[in-house]
Amino acid sequence: MQNVTPAAPVSAGSGPERPPPGELLRRLRQRHATDPITHVERVPPRAGIAVPWPTWAPEDLRAAYARRGVTAPWRHQAEAAGLAYDRQHVVVATGTASGKSLAYQLPALSTLLADPRATVLYLAPTKALAADQLRAVATLEIEGVRPSCYDGDTPRAEREWIRRHSRFVLTNPDMLHHGILPGHAQWSGFLRRLAYVVVDECHVYRGVFGSHVAHVLRRLRRQCARYRPATGDPGPTFVLASATSGDPADAAGRLTGLPVTAVTEDTSPRAGVTFALWEPPLLPPDPAAIPSPRPAPAGSAPSGSAPSGSAPDGSSSGSSPSGGRPSGGPAHEAADLTQVRRSALRETADLLADTVASGVRTLAFVRSRRGAEVVATSTRRSLDEAVPGLGDRVAAYRGGYLREERRELERALLHGDLLGLASTNALELGVDLIGLDAVLICGYPGTRASLWQQAGRAGRSGQEALAVLIARDDPLDTYLVHHPEAVFGAPVEATVLDPANAYVLGPQLACAAAEAPLTDADLALFGDGAKDTVAALVEAGALRQRPTGWYWRHRERPEVDLRGDGGAPVCVVEAATGRLLGTVDGGSAHFLLHSGAVYLHQGVSYVVDSLDLDDGCALVHPEEPDWSTHARDVTSLSVVSVRSYVDAGPVGLFLGEVDVTSQVVSYQRRRIATGEVIDTRPLDLPARELRTVAVWFTLSPESLATAGVDPADVPGGLHAAEHAAIGLLPLVATCDRWDIGGLSTAVHPDTEAPTVFVYDGHPGGAGFAERAYGMASSWLRATRDAIAECGCEHGCPSCVQSPKCGNGNNPLSKPDAIRVLDVVLANLPE
Ligand SMILES: [Zn+2]
Ligand SMILES: [Zn+2]
Repeated sequence: MQNVTPAAPVSAGSGPERPPPGELLRRLRQRHATDPITHVERVPPRAGIAVPWPTWAPEDLRAAYARRGVTAPWRHQAEAAGLAYDRQHVVVATGTASGKSLAYQLPALSTLLADPRATVLYLAPTKALAADQLRAVATLEIEGVRPSCYDGDTPRAEREWIRRHSRFVLTNPDMLHHGILPGHAQWSGFLRRLAYVVVDECHVYRGVFGSHVAHVLRRLRRQCARYRPATGDPGPTFVLASATSGDPADAAGRLTGLPVTAVTEDTSPRAGVTFALWEPPLLPPDPAAIPSPRPAPAGSAPSGSAPSGSAPDGSSSGSSPSGGRPSGGPAHEAADLTQVRRSALRETADLLADTVASGVRTLAFVRSRRGAEVVATSTRRSLDEAVPGLGDRVAAYRGGYLREERRELERALLHGDLLGLASTNALELGVDLIGLDAVLICGYPGTRASLWQQAGRAGRSGQEALAVLIARDDPLDTYLVHHPEAVFGAPVEATVLDPANAYVLGPQLACAAAEAPLTDADLALFGDGAKDTVAALVEAGALRQRPTGWYWRHRERPEVDLRGDGGAPVCVVEAATGRLLGTVDGGSAHFLLHSGAVYLHQGVSYVVDSLDLDDGCALVHPEEPDWSTHARDVTSLSVVSVRSYVDAGPVGLFLGEVDVTSQVVSYQRRRIATGEVIDTRPLDLPARELRTVAVWFTLSPESLATAGVDPADVPGGLHAAEHAAIGLLPLVATCDRWDIGGLSTAVHPDTEAPTVFVYDGHPGGAGFAERAYGMASSWLRATRDAIAECGCEHGCPSCVQSPKCGNGNNPLSKPDAIRVLDVVLANLPE
């Protein structure tokens, strides 16, 4: 419950005097000769608006909250709770620590108290969050509710009891999909009386995963309807909680398939925050560091299948996409002095050391687990050099720690025993660690929504806090630190998901049919494409049509992984013990589990000995090398169909289906701390096909010539524009650049023109390309500005170089990329 002011740290006063944010910032910037701060924004404090308890809230429940220090709800909590109590579907989308759980607990528990038969189903994206919520509900000690977690860890012996007796079941979408819905008959009593479905942290359900979860919720609604006696019963009420996001009513409506009202005005109190944007300085060109001429890595081998002059960029990540300088010297010509910025990880470690030395309780967010370890280790080392023993007050925190370990670290930080914590975004989900003095964000976390979630950890009531975003060497980060209006003046992103994706709809309809034969009436629930998809499933022999509906034809249930991309999952097995560590979906296995890959599981590092694709199995051993691995692929693409297009004279903009063929051909090993490329090693893996959705633009060769692009520079201009466009797409869609692939070519056989393609890296598309098409002019405008404003001369990782380029970032022309985009923007309607 966040209406409670966090307990004052016991020993915070015992350290050195804590400087106010402005003074602290002044101390931090002294490290550099040039000012790394590009912008400072002051986010003013906000007073909370409390309102009386709603009259329908039972006295017992108010008393239970009062025992936990909650004397009255904030207005947004009462508003959302009131809508839910009136049986309207509602999403509450407010900031970190704004008390969203009260908004669903109040109507849900009130209803359970009023109706001794009613039940509630709570869904969290992680088991850990469900466990946290269980404790929160259990401590209210409402009689007869018997809240229980039901997930993969629940002992068999307890499951039967929970199904029969619990009236508040906490689980996750995977368990709903794999366990509860297939076993619906055993849950019939629970589903018949289901009053509320709570979907917590619903902004997590985006992309392909979100599209799957949308259909799991439709399957849930269908089973509820089947077990309810009365026709015309509206079914359970959905209460969703989201981080602040753009158009949450629309996203929640897509997720549930129901009309949802949004409550978005946050009326909880907030401390003022001084928010600085920080760009690590460019390192002076170092003649001694001139990279040797690029070896001939397999990654740049001319691909027989790719159109000539094309520059493909794969769509999946290496094992450790973040951390350090992502792309290094070997891609450059020998004559070109590589200009790089100081790595964001090193910069973060230094800043953390400085804030800790100033007695400031600081949380540093780092994108990768290994990166968090590097920051913590490096900070501890420099603190110990200054004051022996001071390093002990810094630790690393990551997902995968046991709950007790996490609690201990949280407690130590809140009480001031620990002063610095370097964390992955594992902290983003539901952990009540707030009220810190400073938050350092190493690299833009991908969305403004996540940025505000992370910055929201800073600030105790009545005390100003500091937040610093440290830019990585990356086009999006560079753009943002030079465009504060894109950080502070823009609304947070909408959550993107596309339940109509045929690659999601087909498997989900198969699951639904396996649960109970599909009827005509059911199809309406699953959307417009359902009829055609069912016909295709009949054609493929998966379903059989009978007068009473469509029946699943097989004995076994369909195997569908909500978080995967289709393709049989590959098992990750520890070679020495035979222990199964986990599975990776077939689409990512080539990138993450090739031999030699560094694979992270629950924070532990393994190296892959061998990958057997026929057996669907990768053998690994534990090892913690100081490098990460980054797979590269080569790609070709053909257009299947055009959904929509804009004819803009010499420029064309298209949205459509494409077939992408890609092959992982090599991987790079890079030092984690510096990003330095150690070497590139070839791989021998088969090519794979991906049918997906792409956005692309074409330009006439004449328009390029008029704009001053020499024909020889067209491939380099298009390729550089493509890289930057991929890097900037997260500005308009809630994806990260690892969800997207691209390809550019001076002449594509299907378009017969110079073309840049950007495609969803997921079968059937995840909605990202569609979003890019709809926002094309603002997306490409930002891309153009990011390139033009970068301080480098010939292109760098901050603008047009890509860490995952299948062509070794060759050719690239920064000035011609600007000309290309100018032609597009001059012709494209706003
Ligand atoms: Zn640059
Ligand atoms: Zn490329």
